[in-house]
This record gives sequence, C-alpha cells and structure tokens, in this order.
Amino acid sequence: MFDNDNFRPGNKLNLKEKSTDYSAGYASKEAAQERTEKNIDRMARMQDILYAQDKYALLIIIQAMDAAGKDGVIKHVMSGLNPQGTMVHSFKRPSAEELDHDYLWRYTKALPERGRIGIFNRSYYEDVLVVRVHNLIETQQHLPPALITKNVWKERLEDIGHLEKYLYRNGIAVLKFYLHVSRQEQKERLLARLDEPDKNWKFNAGDLEERKHWDTYRKYAEEAINATDTDYAPWYIIPADKKWFARMAISEIIADTLEAMKLEYPRLNDDQKKMLAVYRAQLLED
Ligand code: AMP
Ligand code: MG
Repeated sequence: MFDNDNFRPGNKLNLKEKSTDYSAGYASKEAAQERTEKNIDRMARMQDILYAQDKYALLIIIQAMDAAGKDGVIKHVMSGLNPQGTMVHSFKRPSAEELDHDYLWRYTKALPERGRIGIFNRSYYEDVLVVRVHNLIETQQHLPPALITKNVWKERLEDIGHLEKYLYRNGIAVLKFYLHVSRQEQKERLLARLDEPDKNWKFNAGDLEERKHWDTYRKYAEEAINATDTDYAPWYIIPADKKWFARMAISEIIADTLEAMKLEYPRLNDDQKKMLAVYRAQLLED
C-alpha cells in the first residue's frame, strides 16, 4: 500500500537507511502508471480551483543528484496541468548579475503568483549543496569575507527556514521532493547517455566530477533536509531508481497536498447573485 508518510524524512534523516527502490512493495508498473494518471486528473481539478480562487500558490521544489530524473518528473507529472497556471524554473549556475545579489534573490524573483503552481528544478538548496561542496561561497559569491564564518551553512539553513515560513504566512505552500537514486543506478543512467545517440546531448562531463563527491553531497543533503523539514514546508524522500514509481509517488503527494489546502471556487454574495438574474434578463432581451 502506498502511504505518503513512508516518504517523510523522520526526525533525523539518514539517506543510507532509505531505500532507493520501493517498487517491490508496490503492485506493478502498469498499476502505478494508472494511478499516476488518476493523480494527474486530481491535480488538474484542484489547479482549476487554485487558479479561480487566486488566494494560495503552491511551490514545488525538486532536488536530486544528476540523472535522478528531475526533468522526467516535471515532464510527466505536470503534463495534465493548465500551462497558464503553471511555471517551471530550472536553476543553473548563477549568472554574473545573479551573483551580484544576495543568494536568495534569483529564487524569490521566480516565486509563483497566487493561483499558480510553480516548480523549481533545483532551488536555493543548491546554495547549501553544490556551493558548499565546492566552497563557491568564497570563490564565487562576492560575500564580505568577515561574514563567511564556520556558522555560515547553519545560518543559510536558517535563512531558508525563515523564507519558507514567510511564504507559508503569505499563502504560498511549499512542497519539497528529494529524488533518492542509488549510486549504481546513476552510473547506469550516465552510461546510457554515452551509449544511446539520442541521449548523448544529456551527457555532461561535469556530472562525473560531481559523482566523485557523492558522500559529501549526501551528508549536506541530510543536514539541509533535517534543518528545514516542517509541517508547512515538508520534505519527501522519493525512491527514484524506478522512474515510474517516483512519478506515481510525486503525483500522489502533490494531489493530496492540493486537496488538503483550503481551496474553493469563489462564491457570490446575495447582492451579486441578484445581479445574475438582471444580467440574464438583459441577455435574453437582446
Ligand atoms: P542541470 O540541472 O543538470 O542542467 O545542471 C545545472 C547545474 O547548475 C548543476 O551542475 C548545478 O550544480 C548548477 N547550479 C545550480 N544552482 C547553482 C548555484 N546556486 N551555484 C552554483 N551552481 C549551481
Ligand atoms: Mg545535469
């Protein structure tokens, strides 16, 4: 049975203890795909209300190691949504302009408007992951050296926690997914990018360099998730060795989250309702 709570990080996440392949506990690929389709329908129904109500927004953050399937999740799971109400941002290496601002600047600029679902393919969590692994905080981020103390990562995680609380207090729900893939599965997917001509374009030699830092990435990811997992901006650790399973789990959690939000179509008050009869009469006389 699928239960969202199985995928919450718990009090103290240890990724080594979390399975990257949960599919054996689930019926079959076909059943999962059917369920994904149903979840996408549920999401679409709720998105329509979210948009009409124009009060709340949903920000979905997707973090993962390379080749874990972020792009595929976005392509498949978002396929049934109304493009007018959805915005996807993929965060790459920051530009010179972005590096001239505080690190949260480029992310806050891209937040979804009310009524919209926003997807961040990578996010401000990169600023406590790749930036930390490669010490880019010193070499790239133009910070005053006196501010880069041994507490700086703890401080960043605090900043992020404050941002997410602020968003919650403004009606922007945040939902965070960590696609959890095994080192072996990543190797196979990177090899496929070398071996299959249609996938060659996805190969990036830099991914091999990042792979060397696997354990460090994992450690920092655990730290970040442990520091920022809250009821109002929860993390979900998604077993991602089977793409069909990851897509089912993510669509299920998004649909459940939307259904748990207090979404409803705007209703007219009595005066407005009376006006409907007036407008109807006008149209009929036309
Ligand atoms: P991809 O998502 O595979 O297209 O790759 C985007 C690249 O941008 C990855 O190598 C990330 O590590 C990198 N990246 C994303 N955000 C940041 C950041 N804040 N600072 C440095 N590099 C980043
Ligand atoms: Mg990549």
